Amino acid sequence: MGTHFDLLAIGAGSGGLSVVERAAAHGASCAIVEPHELGGTCVNRGCVPKKMMWYGASLAHSLRESVDYGFSLSTGKFDWQRLKTVREAYIEDIRGWYGGSLADAGIEKIEGAAWFTAPHTVVVDNKSYSAEHIVIATGSSPLIPEIPGAELGISSDGFFKLERCPQRVALIGGGYIAVEIACMLKAYGAEVTLILRGSQLLRHFDNMLREVLLEEMLDSGINILSSVQVQRVREAASGEKSLSCNTGLELGGFDLLLWATGRTPNTAGLGLESVGVKTREDGHILTDDYQSTNIPGLYAIGDVTGRYPLTPVAVAAGRRLADRLFGGMPDRHLEYQNIPTVVFSHPPLGSVGLTEAEARERHGRAVKIYQSRFSPMYAVPLEHGRKSAMKLVTVGAEERVVGCHVIGPGADEMLQGFAVALRMGATKADFDDTVAIHPTSAEELVTMR
Ligand code: FAD
Ligand code: NDP
Repeated sequence: MGTHFDLLAIGAGSGGLSVVERAAAHGASCAIVEPHELGGTCVNRGCVPKKMMWYGASLAHSLRESVDYGFSLSTGKFDWQRLKTVREAYIEDIRGWYGGSLADAGIEKIEGAAWFTAPHTVVVDNKSYSAEHIVIATGSSPLIPEIPGAELGISSDGFFKLERCPQRVALIGGGYIAVEIACMLKAYGAEVTLILRGSQLLRHFDNMLREVLLEEMLDSGINILSSVQVQRVREAASGEKSLSCNTGLELGGFDLLLWATGRTPNTAGLGLESVGVKTREDGHILTDDYQSTNIPGLYAIGDVTGRYPLTPVAVAAGRRLADRLFGGMPDRHLEYQNIPTVVFSHPPLGSVGLTEAEARERHGRAVKIYQSRFSPMYAVPLEHGRKSAMKLVTVGAEERVVGCHVIGPGADEMLQGFAVALRMGATKADFDDTVAIHPTSAEELVTMR
């Protein structure tokens, strides 16, 4: 095995794998360093196992709702272990597939954790490796508040290790992970209390999405407490956890406490200080529009940069960087705009472009909003209805669509195509001129008045 490469990636998650695969396709000699499983967070502890749990939770909803459609079912008990086994086997397959594709592309896989000894040199397991270009793609890890007893709780990493569905869960946080896990656990039959330190779920999303999601979560029986901060956690001999909060509130009887309070970049132990790579105060690596750090030949992509910590963003940044360095495309880079995102809540929601509040702040009176709230046809026979809501944010006399926000059944699969339209600069007239697909919920987006 060689020890000098054209490109070396640190971390074999979404970003690292993408950059080496594309660089190798352009003919570069590449290596990738990873101390754990191939695939990083998304494959092992993120998107993939989460989505399978989400499908299961969606089925739980469908099974209950099937009664309102006239079915009479006896479903018996839900087998959490079976789903976990199937899920983990699928993940093992993905890891195997990555291993094979690295080998096929002639990419060197170096096992261990890397740290810098010089700008173009890292050490892994006492051995030095160098490269013309080094890409830091070390991702992020759960961030848990430092309060007494915090270690009695788990993070999303621990969620995927659970052997059975918990019965009474306290979930702290109001972001993507908190919302997704709260909805899933509720669907699987747990009693869920979601504790927000502020007043809002999904603070950065459009207000319409937040309002409808809150209503839907409350309707589903999730207990949501706002403006409450947990200050201390205790555990009884029975294993039950209790929480003391800043408001004087004491909450008890939980068999599971789950922190979903954000993530922190994996930069400790990389030796970044020794080579002078600049980071923000919170540890994220500073990069320019081209993913370059302040040190020539050193780049960072994905969660470690803190810019839209989503898998497709890490992948897109990695591929574009490889195209720029080895593919003869000197200006290729990712524009961090109009990035679509979906929260896999129940119901799911999706968003691309500016929220109404962001658009009004930027464009003032030039903003015109089109929105619709309705009960989807699927919900007609249901005893407990379901809601959908959609919003288009437009700007200027030509009504260019700068934001599209959707919540309701199918929202997760609806948004990708509309993200293409936004990227191409579509106007409201373009939406209106598009023939609807009937009967769907999505047709509402091209028929709004
Ligand atoms: P990672 O995938 O985290 O990979 C980093 C790798 O670097 C890791 O394998 C790590 O072991 C390795 N590493 C760390 N330090 C070193 C070192 N010193 N030397 C060598 N290697 C090192 N995103 C979506 O788009 N959709 C979703 O539905 C979604 N769901 C998620 C659900 C959960 C519960 C979580 C936690 C995240 C989810 N995400 C989702 C986010 C997504 O997983 C991340 O944005 C994505 O994995 C980031 O890729 P990355 O390459 O930057 O980092
Ligand atoms: P988020 O940034 O989405 O949310 C963090 C939440 O934790 C916020 O509600 C925040 O509150 C709250 N919080 C932070 N510190 C504390 C504290 N000390 N006490 C109480 N609450 C606190 O992070 P997540 O961990 O949910 O997810 C990390 C990232 O992973 C996401 O940003 C997303 O990019 C990615 N992800 C993507 C998914 C997808 O694409 N479907 C799914 C899961 C994760 P406040 O709002 O008040 O700041």
